[in-house]
Amino acid sequence: MSYVDSIMELVIKRNPAEPEFHQAVKEVLDSIQPVFARRPEYEKNRILERLTEPERTIMFRVPWTDDKNRIQVNRGFRIQFNSAIGPYKGGLRFHPTVYLGILKFLAFEQVFKNSLTTLPMGGGKGGSDFDPKGKSDMEVMRFCQSFMTELCKYIGPDTDVPAGDIGVGGREIGYLFGQYKRIRNEFTGVLTGKALSWGGSLIRPEATGYGAVYFAQNMLGTRDMDIRGKTCTVSGSGNVAQYTVEKLNQLGAKVVTISDSNGTIYDPAGIDDEKLAFVMDIKNVRRGRISEYAEKYQGAKFLDGARPWSVKCDCAFPSATQNEISGPDAAALVKNGCILVSEGANMPTDPDGVKIFLDNQVLYGPGKAANAGGVAVSGLEMAQNSQHVSWPREEVDRRLHQIMESIHRQAFETAADYGFPSNYVVGANIAGYVKVADAMLDQGLV
Ligand code: NDP
Repeated sequence: MSYVDSIMELVIKRNPAEPEFHQAVKEVLDSIQPVFARRPEYEKNRILERLTEPERTIMFRVPWTDDKNRIQVNRGFRIQFNSAIGPYKGGLRFHPTVYLGILKFLAFEQVFKNSLTTLPMGGGKGGSDFDPKGKSDMEVMRFCQSFMTELCKYIGPDTDVPAGDIGVGGREIGYLFGQYKRIRNEFTGVLTGKALSWGGSLIRPEATGYGAVYFAQNMLGTRDMDIRGKTCTVSGSGNVAQYTVEKLNQLGAKVVTISDSNGTIYDPAGIDDEKLAFVMDIKNVRRGRISEYAEKYQGAKFLDGARPWSVKCDCAFPSATQNEISGPDAAALVKNGCILVSEGANMPTDPDGVKIFLDNQVLYGPGKAANAGGVAVSGLEMAQNSQHVSWPREEVDRRLHQIMESIHRQAFETAADYGFPSNYVVGANIAGYVKVADAMLDQGLV
């Protein structure tokens, strides 16, 4: 059995019933195989055995009271996966599907993603099985306060700096920050994604979506193509999806879909800025369902229960959740002429789908490269906080551009160097891995 296969066996045995974590580890292990022939010291020092085991896993009870004064109990988590190149960094997800396996997959991916950003950040992820949908602002606040009362013991601006993810946006970051400040009596950059008036960075809300589009532009550039005039499908309608649509519109592409967990909006006329403002109002202010869009805009259809992948497009931007593109979905995209997939979400394409994209020479930007703009600007928010300064919008956007270009270059060049030209999966995984592995070697057995 090969070294890499033996690690996979160990991971499955040690982490039973966590299929998403197994999937994320397998994808990385399969693509970094060629490194071990060149760098035998990694195997000798058991880097993979160490890298697949979180440095620390924290689980805790989160008791809170709802608006009817009933006691509710959720479970909270923080996975501090790897701190070889910087403090743990990664989002918090509040969604009923959250359990250890989801957070371990996300934290594991985060280690490689953060490594690619060129910024000094380790990998972590956390969250809760709390469902913010249908809860009042006061219920969300009481939950966030209880969650942070425990989490605050384990995080800090030089230790672990959480941010948002699914179900955790500006409102939740505000409540979490308020409680941290109250308990610790410290006003520090302990969380990113803060509002502008109390330490947030310009462009942070936009960064993941904008970054996924910049990454797409870079991929298209390798074939002398441009995003202008392209028909695009986007899934999701949350933070990442909204700013993906905004940037695509700015660059002259036409976006014809968005979605939520109930179904897809297909608008052949394009989701222009005015329609996007309506989407933002539904999702961010009224916290309603995307189906309302089809009631307001004639010509748009609501595809109940469907995902966007049967709609014809040139470029696809999955921006909702993991495993939202299956093998058959990927086949439908390819059949309809899709030439590019840039993943705003984490691990949105399942292994069958990835294989189909790669076999058909689709420009395929895996999440850990394509959506790294979010954490990159979080890193810039940390830098601004520690210097007590705030950079103008143009400055942050310029740096985001530069970082996405650098991530693209690292992935592209590394893939070519290892004999897999244009394979961004291999390129991103190897480039991300080598930097972390070398740091682990430097720091000894810790
Ligand atoms: P939001 O909570 O703002 O939005 C999530 C969107 O995805 C909503 O439209 C939601 O629909 C939909 N969605 C969530 N779960 C499912 C599901 N199981 N099936 C179908 N649709 C679903 O989250 P974000 O936009 O922040 O995150 C989206 C993705 O991007 C995630 O994979 C996240 O990990 C990734 N990501 C986010 C970053 C960030 O900076 N926020 C950074 C890097 C990656 P509904 O309203 O019905 O739940």
